[in-house]
Amino acid sequence: MAVVVMKFGGTSVANVERIRNVARHVKREVDAGNKVCVVVSAMSGVTNQLVAYVREASLLHDAREYDAVVATGEQVTAGLLAIVLQSMGLQARSWQGWQVPITASAAHGSARITGIDGSEILRRFESDEVAVVTGFQGIEPERQRVATLGRGGSDTSAVAMAVALKADVCDIYTDVDGVYTTDPRIVAKAKRLPKISYEEMLEMASLGSKVLQTRSVELAMNHRMRVRVLSSFVAPEAMAPVRLGQLEDIGTVVCDEDEIVESQVVSGIAYVKDEAKVTLIKVEDKPGIAARIFGPLADANINVDMIVQSVTPDGKHTDMTFTVQATELPRTLETLKAAKSEIGEFEIQSSADVAKISVIGIGMRSHAGVAALMFKALSDKGINILAITTSEIKISVLIDAAYAELAVRTLHSIYGLDAD
Ligand code: ADP
Ligand code: ASP
Ligand code: MG
Repeated sequence: MAVVVMKFGGTSVANVERIRNVARHVKREVDAGNKVCVVVSAMSGVTNQLVAYVREASLLHDAREYDAVVATGEQVTAGLLAIVLQSMGLQARSWQGWQVPITASAAHGSARITGIDGSEILRRFESDEVAVVTGFQGIEPERQRVATLGRGGSDTSAVAMAVALKADVCDIYTDVDGVYTTDPRIVAKAKRLPKISYEEMLEMASLGSKVLQTRSVELAMNHRMRVRVLSSFVAPEAMAPVRLGQLEDIGTVVCDEDEIVESQVVSGIAYVKDEAKVTLIKVEDKPGIAARIFGPLADANINVDMIVQSVTPDGKHTDMTFTVQATELPRTLETLKAAKSEIGEFEIQSSADVAKISVIGIGMRSHAGVAALMFKALSDKGINILAITTSEIKISVLIDAAYAELAVRTLHSIYGLDAD
């Protein structure tokens, strides 16, 4: 027998009928003799609705009470799935974060999991009980308050449960049948990747491919937990159950890079539209100016992503362009205005109509010319690059948001990723 964690996202549990379908996936594994821990998200749309209620109640709300509200979506799904499983003759019990317990940091709204005691769930595995655990939440031990893990956090709950229970695999069931070369809802020619390395998946996730939450990939990579991304929309009985020692490579397997025999130079394209660009024009060009601009932003806990500095023709001034999360734009502008006495005179321009497009691939480590090809392809389409950042395995460019989809499609095709 194998220990399997199965996570089902919002669309997979969108209504009771879909929950029955999920229960059939679970039954398949139980019938094969596997021990199963299921991690569930809220029914599709529910978390958004809960967030909207909180904002309607008060824009300046208490973070602990925000969590008290938004964590409830998962509680409903876990209870409903346990009921359906029981009605199918299986032994099942729902578990909220505090009941497991899953402990989490006090950063309400984006808490980190700090520990999981899986002993009671493991004990109940012996009598063939299925555990249905609420994703997205834990308990902050000091104040004993519910803390949520950030949007998409049920993926992280699932990987953390898999690590705690020493599971053989963490299967993430969603509404697509794997990780694709780019978002299949944007590019019809996107191809499913049978395998992807932890490193590439980490970049894809953090650069906008929301199929897995970034922290879930980090956690899987640190613990070398095997993660598969699968579709819950495939008929449950048509899929083979997990068998110990012979895990089928279906969907997309996120694994060590050495397991990938044939890798492409570029494996995927990701994009985000939620960044904003800020330019400080004509700042005095003197030593320490960058520290005086970015120091106050760091103190205000504002994450700066891309930075471009250009010297103006007079040689005495510089223009500094950088990006922040669009939601942080008002705070960024306020912080900069407040720091004017340290920075000196400057004019400021900002825009949220920008998109960041990234090409990702471990093959870039050993292949030259990937960036040049990207810049040429974008220029051929008349797309202007506003900022560039690179790492060993990715190149990101900032462009006008209106061209985002054209850029993704163009790059997808130029790097040979289009399906035939
Ligand atoms: P769930 O509710 O199951 O957690 P999500 O909506 O969070 O599902 O993630 C699945 C979605 O991720 C897909 O519907 C797809 O549109 C999107 N997505 C973005 N980039 C990719 C990619 N590279 N491969 C697969 N799906 C992607
Ligand atoms: N329900 C939460 C959200 O919508 C967590 C998740 O689905 O992973 O963000
Ligand atoms: Mg998700």
